[in-house]
Amino acid sequence: MSKQTLSFQAEVAQLLHLVTHSLYSNPDIFLRELVSNASDACDKLRFEALNNSALYEDAPNLEVRVAFDKTAKTITITDNGIGMSLAEAVEHLGTIAKSGTKDFVSRLSGDQKQDAQLIGQFGVGFYSGFIVADKITVESRRAGLPAAEGVRWVSGGTGDFEVENIERAARGTSVILHLRDDKTEYLSHWKLKQIIGKYSDHISLPILMQKEEWDAEKSEYVQKDEWEAVNSANALWARSKKDVSDEQYAEFYKNISYDSEAPLAWSHNRVEGSTEYTQLLYIPAKAPHDLWNRDRKAGIKLYVKRVFIMDEAEALMPSYLRWVKGVVDSADLPLNVSRELLQESRDVKAIREGNTRRVLAMLEDMAKKDVAPKAEDKAEVVSAEDKAAAEKEAGKYSAFYAEFGSVLKEGLGEDFANRDKIAKLLRFASTTTDTVSVGFADYKARMKEGQEAIYYITADTLAAAKNSPQLEVFKKKGIEVLLMADRVDEWALSHLNEFDGTPLQSVAKGSVDLGKLQDEEEKKAAEAAAETFKPLLEKLKESLRDKAKDVRVTTRLVDSPACLVVEDHGMSTQLARLLKQAGQ
Ligand code: ADP
Ligand code: MG
Repeated sequence: MSKQTLSFQAEVAQLLHLVTHSLYSNPDIFLRELVSNASDACDKLRFEALNNSALYEDAPNLEVRVAFDKTAKTITITDNGIGMSLAEAVEHLGTIAKSGTKDFVSRLSGDQKQDAQLIGQFGVGFYSGFIVADKITVESRRAGLPAAEGVRWVSGGTGDFEVENIERAARGTSVILHLRDDKTEYLSHWKLKQIIGKYSDHISLPILMQKEEWDAEKSEYVQKDEWEAVNSANALWARSKKDVSDEQYAEFYKNISYDSEAPLAWSHNRVEGSTEYTQLLYIPAKAPHDLWNRDRKAGIKLYVKRVFIMDEAEALMPSYLRWVKGVVDSADLPLNVSRELLQESRDVKAIREGNTRRVLAMLEDMAKKDVAPKAEDKAEVVSAEDKAAAEKEAGKYSAFYAEFGSVLKEGLGEDFANRDKIAKLLRFASTTTDTVSVGFADYKARMKEGQEAIYYITADTLAAAKNSPQLEVFKKKGIEVLLMADRVDEWALSHLNEFDGTPLQSVAKGSVDLGKLQDEEEKKAAEAAAETFKPLLEKLKESLRDKAKDVRVTTRLVDSPACLVVEDHGMSTQLARLLKQAGQ
């Protein structure tokens, strides 16, 4: 077919106008987009070749080459992937098929400044080549077609493009960028290599560049005929679990977290179903210094099909799990997804829920294995290996909890769907144990016959909690009370009314009803006392009029003469003090 000139679809023309007339906030991304297209083309070939291995022809090793020519002022990205026929080039490079780009175009306002900002957030696939080029030539041959059915597509990025048939022996596609005069800084080995390292390191194909050598005579670097891979071509999370050693997992963690300590635990999974993604999540051993900053960004890196999209993808993890590190690689999200779009995406919501479930399951597992084996468990013969494995796990959860327990409690107020799971993971000190090791379930298992509530007390310090006069009656009756001295306890517990069907009751609130734990005699004695002391109570009420709402006889004290309590639904003294401190 002879050369013909065709017009771009209206939306493409609109997009191109914007690309070429706006200041692009991050021009480097053109390379990410084009390398990613090259990698996609190789993936497509691999897929089609599953049923037709002849498509590999004599070049089964798939790769991407990035070359530049200083004299011609071109950058060429070549792949030996699926390629395009002439009809496909017209269709794929002349119209917008991709929903992400369509969405982008539909949001254009016509206001240059605003749209320039928008384009910075999106990235626009193939057309981003026009950020740095004033002309793009694409030469391609589709796998399986004869050499005579190659295609050349040329455009200056304005209203139209030219296509013609060419002879092309090599399968796959070359995208040749004719650089704008003000973008020649990209004609640099170092620069291109650096961009590839930043955005495309984990592309699983080798990305090759020509080696350079210093030429003393010309006093400049010259390119050699030798090619080398400039990426590690090796996405760890894309490998199967059995091919990755514990050391490699730990090393990768250090790479992405900048943490020098090994992680406590990790979980690596390929999730299939309506939303497909790979998750590799790590639980660090030490809390970062700014753990308490709720604006602290999440530790999750987002990839789409092994192409790096963004760091600190906060939409992929709830805030109370912001300390989890890792990688999510989605098979569904568009490459040009922005933070704003992430917030709205249904796939992202599914990923966030999946990540949350996974982290809570990891913690549950750690908590379960943390306990030292009990005597009765020893009946079974355990191998030395199992024993060593069990010893390795012992103490991990308490170590984790000491670092991250407080922030985990935020989940009670933040993640209602998982509140029960989170509650199970919480640990407290109590009147029977000094260490922060009692879970609600342990507490329940030890509850007294007739006890109807889980009792707790909050105070500034554990010592203050422990010595509170409000505990006297509980001590006397041998009822365990959870001691809470963490700043967030009060707030967190306000979101938890019960655990596994048993109500939670602060011993500092209202007239603690010991229910069946209080015998008839005690009740009668209290009533009689109330009668006897009525005149005294009236006097006290009168003199404390501005300071106390009520004064009453209580059975909660054993040794102390009096104590302060708050109303059942009132703010606790602890919380009131906290708010006062914060100036409220
Ligand atoms: P996307 O990659 O999201 O589909 P692009 O604008 O990056 O959008 O690319 C548009 C289309 O052009 C691709 O879907 C593909 O069909 C075709 N294409 C682009 N680059 C190549 C390539 N190197 N090899 C084969 N086809 C390509
Ligand atoms: Mg693309």
